Amino acid sequence: MSFFDSIVRTTLPITPKPMVHFFARRYVAGAKLTDAIATVRRLSKEGCCATLDVLGESVSERQHAATAVAAYHEVIEAIAAEALPANISLKPTQMGLNIDYSFCRDNVAAVLERASAKGIFVRIDMEDSPTIDATLRLYHELIARFPKGTGVVMQTRMRRTLSDCAALAAEGASVRLCKGIYREPRPVAYEEREIIRRAYVHALRILLVGGAYVGIATHDEMLVCEALAMIQEFGMRADGYEFQMLLGVDPELRRIITDAGHKLRVYVPFGSHWYPYSVRRCRENPSIARAGIEAFLKGRMES
Ligand SMILES: Cc1cc2nc3c(=O)[nH]c(=O)nc-3n(C[C@H](O)[C@H](O)[C@H](O)COP(=O)(O)OP(=O)(O)OC[C@H]3O[C@@H](n4cnc5c(N)ncnc54)[C@H](O)[C@@H]3O)c2cc1C
Repeated sequence: MSFFDSIVRTTLPITPKPMVHFFARRYVAGAKLTDAIATVRRLSKEGCCATLDVLGESVSERQHAATAVAAYHEVIEAIAAEALPANISLKPTQMGLNIDYSFCRDNVAAVLERASAKGIFVRIDMEDSPTIDATLRLYHELIARFPKGTGVVMQTRMRRTLSDCAALAAEGASVRLCKGIYREPRPVAYEEREIIRRAYVHALRILLVGGAYVGIATHDEMLVCEALAMIQEFGMRADGYEFQMLLGVDPELRRIITDAGHKLRVYVPFGSHWYPYSVRRCRENPSIARAGIEAFLKGRMES
């Protein structure tokens, strides 16, 4: 890690919010649903589909979870009104997981009920390691009520993921596979980038061979290459998997993948609760702070 990167990571907690917003604005579609819908329309013209995420997490008041449910209902109506190529992603702690499991399950079920009625899929994001068991339980309870209406996420950083993937593959689940963005203690998670990458390749193989539908969520070209090799090796049909990328990260790779005829979904977060998401993105890739500073200084000099 460069000296600049470690400075960015160390000073993030005390960086003024407007500055974090400036650095991270490319990762967030905007504050309003109309901003997100405009982004989905633009992505659709580029040949991509989307998953819409109403930003928010770790709610500690029931009212905030209820507000998030209402926001998702609006998203579902907006997607359905224009038949947009989009589904939704939500976080269990945004739905009240830290308050009470049953409360959270009922909230997610309410979203799923509305989404299923409109034929819209709901992905349950995976958060940090203490929430994994509850999130998998949530997924299993809801897939029993809404078959094919929901899916889950696996993080290859976690030591438990290979066995979780084997179980999910046997159930024919829809699984988004990613490296995992939360900082975790060594007993539960790998720390080295190369091991996390290796684990990604193993997990992807287990899922594809086992018959899961996989959302291959990465911007790591080595992993994209490994995925393409497996898709070819297993003679996968184009509707048997999809690639997934985050808004604002490597649009060129996005085009390369769609131009080659693969389905690609972009994760489009929006809303007023942008801060924790933006901090994670800046911590993950401090070079965006460098690019932001350069753009900021350039803007100043030009004005
Ligand atoms: C669609 C989607 C959904 C996700 N959902 C979850 C989830 O539910 N739970 C979870 O824990 N994590 C989630 N993640 C995040 C994921 O776990 C990783 O943290 C993230 O994708 C970076 O890993 P990578 O595989 O792209 O590899 P990296 O090695 O981190 O990145 C590969 C390359 O991509 C580029 N890149 C990566 N991140 C950035 C960035 N922030 N800014 C600019 N360039 C960047 C860089 O060029 C980098 O060299 C999701 C990611 C995606 C794409």
